[in-house]
Amino acid sequence: MNGAASPPSPSPSPWRATVIRAITPVTPRVKSFRFDALDRPHRAGQHVDVRLTAPDGYQAQRSYSIASAPGDPAGIELMIEGLEAGEVSGFFDTVAEVGDAIELRGPVGAFAWGSEDGGPVLLIGGGSGVVPLLAMVRERALRAPEVPMLLIYSVRNAAEAIARAELAARSRDETGFDLTLLLTREGATAGRRIDRVMIDTAIECLGMPRHAFVCGGNGFVGTVADLLVDAGVKPGVVRTERFGG
Ligand SMILES: Cc1cc2nc3c(=O)[nH]c(=O)nc-3n(C[C@H](O)[C@H](O)[C@H](O)COP(=O)(O)OP(=O)(O)OC[C@H]3O[C@@H](n4cnc5c(N)ncnc54)[C@H](O)[C@@H]3O)c2cc1C
Repeated sequence: MNGAASPPSPSPSPWRATVIRAITPVTPRVKSFRFDALDRPHRAGQHVDVRLTAPDGYQAQRSYSIASAPGDPAGIELMIEGLEAGEVSGFFDTVAEVGDAIELRGPVGAFAWGSEDGGPVLLIGGGSGVVPLLAMVRERALRAPEVPMLLIYSVRNAAEAIARAELAARSRDETGFDLTLLLTREGATAGRRIDRVMIDTAIECLGMPRHAFVCGGNGFVGTVADLLVDAGVKPGVVRTERFGG
């Protein structure tokens, strides 16, 4: 069993021309891109579709999760990992500049959490799969600080951890938010993967989650969703988003 897939999204909004407002390095492989706010507000966890058009008319389209909390006055933030030979992520990694025109469509998707949904909320992300979960962490801090939330974030090494300083500070300063950072290729936890012990410990600390969100590569999401259900989380509670790979 691979957890409950998110229900189908409503029909997408039309494409909208926009420009890149700011670019900031996040890790050696991930950059943050800022755009003006969307025409309608998103829910934390949703994504946008991005469309690039070459001078000869060739188009490529991919999905990218929104990292910013709904209503962020700085607009929406995407965090894109540059993949080797990646058609679209390669453009963002090595070609894109502030002022470049692209098209966005959204917000899209039912992989979403809002303050009205309550908790406890268990978030589990692998690599860039933490991006939509980061939006949920930011949303909780702004609008629902009373909701217990725990994030398990699995990443190769500390340098590749997205928003590491922000997440560590929130875990230190925000009552009710906890972070378990698993470094799978560095330090004492090298070689370890998210396992049943880690899930059981998270549930002990958080309580049985009312909502569980799992995001990352295909294999990661399938494995973690199965572990959650084995640990007693109801399948209908587990929502998944697969980034590919
Ligand atoms: C709902 C959703 C939200 C997403 N949000 C984000 C996000 O916030 N940040 C982000 O960086 N990506 C995100 N992705 C992944 C993104 O849509 C692209 O798939 C990714 O950027 C690769 O596209 P590309 O054109 O660069 O690579 P392609 O040219 O399509 O593929 C290049 C190579 O990379 C492999 N590949 C494709 N996708 C992945 C992957 N995710 N991991 C590892 N290898 C891969 C392919 O098999 C191929 O070998 C999201 C995907 C979905 C479905």
